Amino acid sequence: MKAIVINHTGSEDVLVLADADDPVPQPDQVLVEVSAAGVNFIDIYQRSGLYQMSLPYIPGSEGAGTIVAVGTEVTTLAVGDNVAWTGHLGSYAQLVAIPAAGVVRVPDGVTNREAAAAMLQGVTAHYLVTSTFELGAGHRCLIHAGAGGVGAILIQMAKRVGAEVFTTVGTHDKAEIASAAGADHVIVYTEIDFAAAVTDIAGPKCLDVVYDGVGQSVFMDSIKLLRRRGTMATFGNASGPVDPIPPLLLSQLGSLFLTRPSLGDYMQTREELEWRTSELFGWMASGDVNISIGLELPLASAADAHRLLGGRDTTGKVLLTP
Ligand code: NDP
Repeated sequence: MKAIVINHTGSEDVLVLADADDPVPQPDQVLVEVSAAGVNFIDIYQRSGLYQMSLPYIPGSEGAGTIVAVGTEVTTLAVGDNVAWTGHLGSYAQLVAIPAAGVVRVPDGVTNREAAAAMLQGVTAHYLVTSTFELGAGHRCLIHAGAGGVGAILIQMAKRVGAEVFTTVGTHDKAEIASAAGADHVIVYTEIDFAAAVTDIAGPKCLDVVYDGVGQSVFMDSIKLLRRRGTMATFGNASGPVDPIPPLLLSQLGSLFLTRPSLGDYMQTREELEWRTSELFGWMASGDVNISIGLELPLASAADAHRLLGGRDTTGKVLLTP
């Protein structure tokens, strides 16, 4: 098969299309012909060496496709079924072998392409608003990078439950995307001080929660906007990892809660995976959540996909098609 194989970590140039052995499914696995693989920031962190990987490896931990073989112990899935996954490496390839317990069926009415686009960022947004800080009507939240993959889904999930949404974006074009997703207040933080803008609109220390995937460049200004006992969910490092802070600062700012959540910890059981994906697919079907695919490239262009995502030049989801 053709796959992107990473032999050493580094710049985008290490993403090279190569011939690789077809994976052979273990007894508990299914072999899937990949229809589309999602491109995510974690792929960049792994490729660059920020997150350690054993080499060589085939990147990509999200996708959807059609089962072409099943292991001897698999009884719940069959050849021809369409399935989607997140959290399993090897997706930048024509074929991938995945434990049957780690995939979900793509429901009727959702294409493999849409499912691939929804899994990682959609489940992330789901756990952030349901489990990290259970968002509800009347809450005020700040969502950074509101035109991005996770950001645009988060906005829609926050509006679904009646929260007031502040969001930041890098450009005016992205502001239109965040507004269309339903954000109440869109701030172009490359032009104005976002913390001052939030305070001007709603007063000092007005937020119940900040969902922050941008990290280093916005962290300190963000936590100062939280109300007493507010929650800072710093879930990503798009601008770089957040610097350490003394716990005492959380006390001084009003007994804040600080968490650095990770998708794997919120997808611990089969039940949790099914709960999150069935709600996500349900909201997609009802129109509450629209997954926007901003860019689709062939597998051979994986390096371009990383350059554009890492360079702030994408909106919504980035997909690779083998
Ligand atoms: P996005 O599509 O949101 O792209 C990242 C965005 O961050 C950019 O488009 C840009 O938007 C903004 N940004 C601000 N500063 C920078 C910078 N210096 N370099 C690059 N981007 C910057 O990506 P994803 O939706 O895939 O991921 C968003 C974040 O969520 C990432 O940090 C990712 O690691 C994290 N994540 C965490 C998960 C978890 O479970 N912890 C799971 C999934 C994702 P703008 O121009 O508008 O500022």
